[in-house]
Amino acid sequence: MKPGAISRVRGMNDLLPEEARHFAEIESAAREVFEAAGYGEIRLPIVEDSRLFTRSIGEATDIVEKEMYAFEDRNGDLLALRPEATAGCVRAVIEHDLIRSGPQRLWYHGPMFRHERPQKGRHRQFHQIGVEVFGIATPDLEAELLMLSQCLWDRLGIEGLTLELNTLGTAEERVHYRAALAAYLSSHEDALGPDDRMRLARNPLRILDSKSAEIQELLANAPVLSDFLGEASREHWQRVGTLLDAAGIAYRINPRLVRGLDYYTQTVFEWTSTALGAQSAVCSGGRYDGLVEQLGGSPTSAMGWALGLERVAALLGRTDVKRPCAVLVTLGAAAEESGFALMREIRQAYPGLRVVLATGPGTLKSKLKRADRLRARWALILGDDELAKGVVQVKALDGPAQVEWVPRAAVVAHLAQVADQ
Ligand code: ATP
Ligand code: MG
Repeated sequence: MKPGAISRVRGMNDLLPEEARHFAEIESAAREVFEAAGYGEIRLPIVEDSRLFTRSIGEATDIVEKEMYAFEDRNGDLLALRPEATAGCVRAVIEHDLIRSGPQRLWYHGPMFRHERPQKGRHRQFHQIGVEVFGIATPDLEAELLMLSQCLWDRLGIEGLTLELNTLGTAEERVHYRAALAAYLSSHEDALGPDDRMRLARNPLRILDSKSAEIQELLANAPVLSDFLGEASREHWQRVGTLLDAAGIAYRINPRLVRGLDYYTQTVFEWTSTALGAQSAVCSGGRYDGLVEQLGGSPTSAMGWALGLERVAALLGRTDVKRPCAVLVTLGAAAEESGFALMREIRQAYPGLRVVLATGPGTLKSKLKRADRLRARWALILGDDELAKGVVQVKALDGPAQVEWVPRAAVVAHLAQVADQ
């Protein structure tokens, strides 16, 4: 790059064709899996009222405190680039009164923005695919949503992921637990660093997923949430396990899994991979029965998850670029004009057929060399000679040498015929 050229913003990446192809593959697999299961796509704005996120994700979370791209627009309105899509989805469901007509099964995909420290698997603009279901309180929803993620891994040929599950109980049960945990941690406050002391005051549950060995040791004797669950929550939690067993989905219960967003209730989960290094979570989510009401809707059970496209893409093998069927090479002005007519005919008749037009200057030799580099199977050559005779030269670019002169009027049909050979 020359000095003075403008480069991309840190943490916001270009997706070059190789990676974009992976993204498209995952997106179309997800679309297939979701639509087949009765989910409808929802497209949400990237910019929302920033209060939507402070109210839902929680003021004392990393996302809202440190990572949100919040700004004032020209009217002085406080807006934010969405750090995730659940809040926007809930807003849309309330705003359009979607649950009036019964439970809603929705899915989305698109970019999210968090001002985190960029590193492998962690970017400031990243991409998620997610599902959200509204209006179902029973534990079959957990099992269905987890099965859906498993179906997507199967469809993409991704193996070896681990599913970790935990239950957070109801909001009320969590309040009691939070008090007990805070009391325990306060009596050991000397062992806490400044960050954890702050968490203790504002959001003590966040200390549970601390990576520090000393804190984990301290937590070994701390009260556990499962002791605070009432009968209904215990039954719900057990049923989730039973249904996952029935669907043949393996999981590991991790009592320390609390997740970084405040709105979760009951079941939370994370799919992780050991193939990704430090950023191992590929997909996570949970139930959020209180959020719709909290954002101004009527009480509605809900649950969802989101996967990180960059991390899932890193698990896919290289996909081969599909080779073109043919390259159309023209020589001379008149042949070029006839070539444009032919190209348009081909694209109209067979829109999916991969035929590359060899635009730009060059000799026949240099154009064929480029066709070779594209690994095209055939060259369609149109020069003055062919034009005069009303034919197109069809030359094989791989396999045994083979040249045919096909009448101009029959070329489109001929091409379709040889396309699958
Ligand atoms: P992590 O623990 O890795 O920060 P998270 O708990 O913040 O993840 P969620 O908010 O649940 O993640 O988002 C769901 C998924 O989105 C994650 O499992 C991950 O795959 C992906 N993801 C989250 N943040 C980023 C990021 N900054 N860059 C790339 N992918 C991300
Ligand atoms: Mg995070």
